[in-house]
Amino acid sequence: MVDADQTFVIVGGGLAGAKAAQTLRSENFSGRVILIGDELDPPYERPPLSKGFLTGEKDRASVFVHEPGWYANHDVELHLGQTVTHLDRAAKTVRLGDGSVIRYDKLLLATGAEPRRLDIPGTDLAGVHHLRRIAHAELLRGTLASLGRENGRLLIAGAGWIGLEVAAAARGYGVEVTIVEPEPTPLHSVLGPQLGSLFTDLHRQHGVTFHFGARLTAITGQDGMVFAATTDDGDEHPAHAVLAAIGAAPRTALAENAGLALAPREEGGGIAVDASLRTSDPDIYAAGDVANAETPHLGHRVRVEHWANALNGGPCAARSMLGQDAAHDRVPYFFSDQYDLGLEYSGHAAPGQYDQVVCRGDVGKREFIAFWLREGRVLAGMNVNVWDVTDPVQRLIRSRVQVDPERLSDPDTPLESLVEGHL
Ligand SMILES: Cc1cc2nc3c(=O)[nH]c(=O)nc-3n(C[C@H](O)[C@H](O)[C@H](O)COP(=O)(O)OP(=O)(O)OC[C@H]3O[C@@H](n4cnc5c(N)ncnc54)[C@H](O)[C@@H]3O)c2cc1C
Repeated sequence: MVDADQTFVIVGGGLAGAKAAQTLRSENFSGRVILIGDELDPPYERPPLSKGFLTGEKDRASVFVHEPGWYANHDVELHLGQTVTHLDRAAKTVRLGDGSVIRYDKLLLATGAEPRRLDIPGTDLAGVHHLRRIAHAELLRGTLASLGRENGRLLIAGAGWIGLEVAAAARGYGVEVTIVEPEPTPLHSVLGPQLGSLFTDLHRQHGVTFHFGARLTAITGQDGMVFAATTDDGDEHPAHAVLAAIGAAPRTALAENAGLALAPREEGGGIAVDASLRTSDPDIYAAGDVANAETPHLGHRVRVEHWANALNGGPCAARSMLGQDAAHDRVPYFFSDQYDLGLEYSGHAAPGQYDQVVCRGDVGKREFIAFWLREGRVLAGMNVNVWDVTDPVQRLIRSRVQVDPERLSDPDTPLESLVEGHL
């Protein structure tokens, strides 16, 4: 039983932090809950920033995790626009940018990730964008609208999920889009070449130009504005704006400076936590993009930069902080929307981990499920324009049962029948 006079502090006002605060209250924690975020807005969801919010279909009010009054109504003390600059584990305090110091009994680090920056000349020009925050999305949306009106060109560095989603949104505004990507296909390290090329075809059909096998080396400007970008193969690409969509890095500085154990970079980096999301300090927890968690059903650590991981990880950390026997053992889950293609991806199949890709359905019509297998066991599954299959796909992954690839690829064989008798 946790004392009512305890103070639980959450650093990071994103989805993981907001959901942790909600769970503390729904589990009847009656002590102080303090949520500190360096953004001015209360916690919001980021997926719409590269989709409906960017296209203008979703308004600002729709992206927030809770109604504005929720925090006060649930006695959650919000400190917005405040950066936690120092964590003192011995004194059990955090220091804020304004110099104030807050003592904690339990602490949750939900500091998320930040976009990687292009380390090339020209990134300070007006018209060079990153996309993580709502303010970034508002700026980019304005840029896309004006480029669309003026036959402008957007150059996107990186054909990952965010680069591709922004490309789709930009085409909706009528913007000319070029994507520069060092790998030979989009999403190469996530999906492999076969499935990656599906996205090449999809975007080409919508008028996007790809420049594969090259990296940006410089962005050149005229009167302080983006004018063109060059790649390491010597090509020059005319551009009026550039989006750097080259991935994100976990925000580990606080944890690192406080001496908490981090996961090695080659294992995804981030703050190392056990399955209950506890760090190497028993009073400090981490959840969401910043956490690299032991995941029992996978049998190894993984850092997941996805919405569902923050949605479920925040509550799991909150329960652990309350002394409950909680474990974060979800199958990683991700979704994306590009033009009329919607997909859900479950599981984890890093490059080199799988030895076979099996598709079920009509790949040409973009209505299928792809499975990544190792020795006949499903590691990951992606349903494209096929819905309500996430549960059986995740059951297959979790079961670790060896499946017959022919039956797996046969749409007339119910997915459920492949695991029956094995769970
Ligand atoms: C444009 C975009 C689109 C996405 N689309 C999808 C999608 O379609 N599907 C999907 O599954 N996932 C998607 N994601 C990923 C998903 O949004 C993230 O996994 C999720 O936001 C992680 O939540 P979090 O709470 O861990 O971190 P964040 O949302 O990053 O929140 C962390 C917060 O902590 C703050 N903070 C950090 N350090 C400090 C400090 N020292 N002091 C105070 N505050 C601090 C940060 O500024 C931030 O506000 C998308 C992400 C982006 C950026």
